[in-house]
Amino acid sequence: MNGLYLNDPGKVRFLAQHAKSNYVWTVNELKVEWVDGIGMEGGHSHPRSHTTKQGSGAGIVTKQLARLQEMGVKPRTRCFVDEIVRDASGRVRGLKVYEGYRFPKFGTGRVKYIEAKKAVILCHGGFSADVAYRMLQDPKLTDKFQTTNQPGATSELWREASRIGALEVQNDWIQCTPWNNAIEKGMGVSWSFAQYVAGEFGVWVTTKGERFVNENANRKVRADAILVEQGKGLRCIAVANLAAGAALAERRPGFVEKCVKDGLVKQSDTLEAIASAFGIDAAALKKTIETYNEGVKAGKDALGKDVSRVKPMTEGPWLAMEMSPRIHHCMGGIVTNLRCEVIDVKTLKPIPGLYAAGEATSGVHGAVRMGTNAIFDCLVFERVAGLSAVKAA
Ligand SMILES: Cc1cc2nc3c(=O)[nH]c(=O)nc-3n(C[C@H](O)[C@H](O)[C@H](O)COP(=O)(O)OP(=O)(O)OC[C@H]3O[C@@H](n4cnc5c(N)ncnc54)[C@H](O)[C@@H]3O)c2cc1C
Repeated sequence: MNGLYLNDPGKVRFLAQHAKSNYVWTVNELKVEWVDGIGMEGGHSHPRSHTTKQGSGAGIVTKQLARLQEMGVKPRTRCFVDEIVRDASGRVRGLKVYEGYRFPKFGTGRVKYIEAKKAVILCHGGFSADVAYRMLQDPKLTDKFQTTNQPGATSELWREASRIGALEVQNDWIQCTPWNNAIEKGMGVSWSFAQYVAGEFGVWVTTKGERFVNENANRKVRADAILVEQGKGLRCIAVANLAAGAALAERRPGFVEKCVKDGLVKQSDTLEAIASAFGIDAAALKKTIETYNEGVKAGKDALGKDVSRVKPMTEGPWLAMEMSPRIHHCMGGIVTNLRCEVIDVKTLKPIPGLYAAGEATSGVHGAVRMGTNAIFDCLVFERVAGLSAVKAA
């Protein structure tokens, strides 16, 4: 439902069927360390998110790099892929690259042609940092928006894949996160407070002191709701009491305390002080929390949030931070089949010698990527792409 039925059902089923075995693979083969316990991200119907002990995808990538080193494989860095080379028969033969490339200066480095022994796998990620291209897809995503992505999340290979005849769809479905901290740059860290404490257990209010969205709805619903409120000149604040952070404290001890110490999340003994710090209408905020607590006790939330794990927030200390949506994920992209073969725009058949996976591809997420599903999309389909490419004739 979150994907507005734009997802490829076959891919969604495949991902669901292979999520657990890939999780086990990361533990047994890569030695990735995951924290005990699971969280519930936006759009999820049940808690099901795992987090690496390191706290991000780097907890997987560093293990992959260590494994490559053991295998004697040296990844090429500073190597810009400029062209995908397709021969007269339509087969992809290799790449034209700039070796020793100096980001972001196009044309720097030495030109080199690399012939593929078996196949080329495209996994060039999304284009959230590419203002011009993302505005061609969705004109409202101007440079006023920050992105959570690294500066190299650009569109050159999206356009190159298109140029050589790879079919791409739904490139204009670009996701904004709802909950980044207005005083942090990029992704930051304290969004976990807004999601896993105030989102799951507390409330999100405008400076009018009123709730405006189900705090655990999918990212699109929540980001759009914040943008609407901001358009009215209001600010959107995530509020919870310290007790609401118990589930996160179990998984990540000391996290909230560190956000408070670093000045990212404001802590006060009274709701009035929180209201005053963020310019919220204090009387309305108090009333909103009373009404929310009544819903929690009755097991029925006025905005439809699942409050089965929530406890009424009756006493301080209180915590709050202001939220600011950021451009985060590209749901569309190259069309692939379940063997990760890239589909040709003209023939609608696989392009020989070309595979793709990860955020550069479409199909899994439809209109809205649910929180934490991207890494499993990458792990599951990037492994399939690798295995398919090895077997390529
Ligand atoms: C801050 C942040 C936090 C996230 N947290 C989560 C999470 O908790 N759970 C989850 O499931 N997902 C999360 N995501 C989403 C997920 O991390 C990404 O969707 C995923 O990492 C994409 O992986 P990928 O391998 O497809 O591409 P990437 O990891 O983006 O890698 C693609 C690489 O290709 C490079 N590249 C692009 N064009 C070229 C070119 N022409 N030549 C050479 N190189 C090129 C890019 O610079 C990049 O280094 C998060 C994303 C961000 C930004």
